[in-house]
Amino acid sequence: MGFKSEEYALPAKTTQEELLSLVKTLNKKEDINGILVQLPLPKHLDDKAVIEAISPLKDVDAFHAVNVGKIMLGEYDFLPCTPAGVMEMLHYYDIDVSGKNCVVIGRSNIVGKPMAMLLLHENGTVTICHSKTKNLSQICARADILVAAVGKTKFITAEMVKDGAVVIDVGMDRDEYGKLCGDVDFENVKNKCSYITPVPGGVGPMTIATLMKNTLKAAKIQNNII
Ligand code: NAP
Repeated sequence: MGFKSEEYALPAKTTQEELLSLVKTLNKKEDINGILVQLPLPKHLDDKAVIEAISPLKDVDAFHAVNVGKIMLGEYDFLPCTPAGVMEMLHYYDIDVSGKNCVVIGRSNIVGKPMAMLLLHENGTVTICHSKTKNLSQICARADILVAAVGKTKFITAEMVKDGAVVIDVGMDRDEYGKLCGDVDFENVKNKCSYITPVPGGVGPMTIATLMKNTLKAAKIQNNII
């Protein structure tokens, strides 16, 4: 896309001070418009403190508390890449969320929670499920739009999917042969639903595209172009 990018592949033994110092340096660099810290970090590092050190204007992942708060209020500069990529797909295929039963499985800060919020902003009736949810299969079977962000291979079976549902598979898992796959039992679910995202080649590329979109927006904001 013609974006310049700099990669800092730091050793696992990097200290908190060293990492924070690098983030602060990048915050000040005018030729850097977006900063992405690849998570998870090694256990001795405090990822929350590192994310909070990123300038909210350069937080193209939209993980900083300021950006998360703005998303809750519906007044955001950046949307988290994976949920925003999912919404982009729904818009592209003219799938109206308004009034639909939307079930999101997973409540992580990166996927599940913001995903639910974006569906709510578009007037979906949203249910968020997690590992303590009771009657998960029945809840899923009522979903018009089902988003799986669990991280478990073939977790969503055909019995859990309503006829004609839209199934979005966020999972990036490995099957018994070590091949990349999603949370949905694709082969058995695909004939039951109206739309389904494959893994690989579904949500993943949309995540990257949104990251680029956010970075372009960050560059515009920082240069007073919008
Ligand atoms: P995470 O932080 O591990 O969250 C997983 C969620 O699944 C948790 O909320 C957990 O519930 C819930 N869960 C686990 N077991 C469950 C069960 N038996 N029933 C119902 N809910 C259950 O993972 P994440 O970061 O959100 O990522 C989820 C998946 O998406 C992973 O496979 C990840 O690799 C993938 N991913 C893909 C992209 C992409 O671009 N395609 C981007 C990000 C992530 P609790 O909260 O109760 O533990």
